[in-house]
Amino acid sequence: MTVANGREFLSIPGPTNVPDAVLQAMHRPAVDIYSGGMLGLGESCHEDLKRIFGTKERVYIYAANGHGGWEAAFTNVLSRGDKVLVLESGRFAIGWGEMAAMLGCEIEVLPGSMRRAVDPARVEERLRADKAHTIKAIMVVQIDTASSCVNDIPAIRNAIDNADHPALLMVDAVASLGCMPFKMDDWGIDVAMAGSQKGLMTPPGLAFVAASPKAKEIHKSAGLRTMYWDWTFRDGPISYQKYCGTPPEHLLFALRKAMDILFEEGQENAYRRHDLLAEATRRAVARWAEGQVIAFNITEPCERSPSVTNVLVQGQSPQPILDYARDKCGVVLGVGLGDLSGKAFRIAHMGHTNAPMVIGTLGAVEMALKALRIPHGNGGVEAAIGFLASEVPA
Ligand SMILES: *Cc1c(COP(=O)(O)O)cnc(C)c1O
Repeated sequence: MTVANGREFLSIPGPTNVPDAVLQAMHRPAVDIYSGGMLGLGESCHEDLKRIFGTKERVYIYAANGHGGWEAAFTNVLSRGDKVLVLESGRFAIGWGEMAAMLGCEIEVLPGSMRRAVDPARVEERLRADKAHTIKAIMVVQIDTASSCVNDIPAIRNAIDNADHPALLMVDAVASLGCMPFKMDDWGIDVAMAGSQKGLMTPPGLAFVAASPKAKEIHKSAGLRTMYWDWTFRDGPISYQKYCGTPPEHLLFALRKAMDILFEEGQENAYRRHDLLAEATRRAVARWAEGQVIAFNITEPCERSPSVTNVLVQGQSPQPILDYARDKCGVVLGVGLGDLSGKAFRIAHMGHTNAPMVIGTLGAVEMALKALRIPHGNGGVEAAIGFLASEVPA
C-alpha cells in the first residue's frame, strides 16, 4: 500500500521546484536573437541580477550549471601556479578547489569540519602567516549544501581586512542567492557566482558570475582566460558577445519570470519566508532528536542554513527513510553527500517553497520514522506548525 499518488514533492536542495508560471514562460517558440524583444529581455535580466547580487557591477550570464560558473570565476582571475586558499565547511568549497587544481592552480585547504561553519579567526591567522602574500584568492561558499551550514561572509571579509591581505574573496552563492541576504558590494566580495536552479526557481542551465573592479583589474593579466568564459569578450559591443553565442533564450524567459516573482514577493520577504520555513524544520528535527537516532548535522544552531537542513541518522542507515518517503508518500528527500553519504538525509526549504510543502515533507519524514519504528521524539510536525502559527499571525 502507498499514498504516493498525487503531485510529487521535490524536497532536494537543487534542482528545486520551478513555479508553474516560470514553466509557462518557457512554453513558446524560439525568437530571433537580434529582435528588439530578445535584446530587451537579455538587458533586463542582466540589470535585475545586479539587484539580486547587491552590486553595481555587471553580472555575466553563462549557459552552464554551477560547475560552469565555478570555472568561469577561476579562469577570469587566476593564472597557472597561483595559490588559492579553500575554506572548508562541508563539500562544496572543496569541490570548487578541486576544479582550480585541475586548471593548474596550487590549492591549500584551510581544514574545517563537516559540522561547523568556517571560523573567521582561523582565516585571519592563516592570512597573517602569509607575509609574502602568495595566496592570490580565497574561496568560500555562503551555504554549503552538503553540510547545510551557513558561513558568515562579512566576518570572513573582516578577517581578510584585519590581516591586511590582498587576496581576492571569491564566494559561491549557489544555494543561498534569493534565500538570504547577499550584498556583494557592501561585503567587499570580489567574485561572486551562483546558478539558476536553487533559490532562483529557474531550471538548471544558467550560471551567473559578478566581478568587483579589483577582480576586473586582475582579470586583465589572468593567464587562464578562455574565450567562452572571458569577461572582456562578453563586454564587447555586439549583443551576441554577451553570451559568446546564441543566448539561452528559454532559460532567459524563465529567469525573467522567476525574478518577477521574487521582486513581487520582495527580497526581504523571501528571506524571512526562508528563515521561518527553516526554523519550522529545525523545530521538528529537534523533537525527533529526543529519540537519540536523529540529530542535526550542524552542531551550532546559529550556523544552520536557511535553505537546507542536514539531518543525521545515527547508528543506522538513512536509506529506509528516504525510500519510505519517496515510495510510500511521494516525497523526495536529499541524500547525504561526501563523508555523510549513507549517514544523513537532507530536507530542502529553498526557492519556490511554502508552509504546506515544508509541513508535508516533515509529515512524510515523521510518518517514515513511525512506520519504520525508528526511535524519535513525538510531535515534530506539531512543533513546526506551532512555531509557524506563532510567527505568522492572523
Ligand atoms: C548545487 C551547488 C553547486 C553546483 O551546482 P551544479 O549546477 O550542480 O553544478 C555549487 N555550489 C553549491 C553551494 C551548490 O549548492
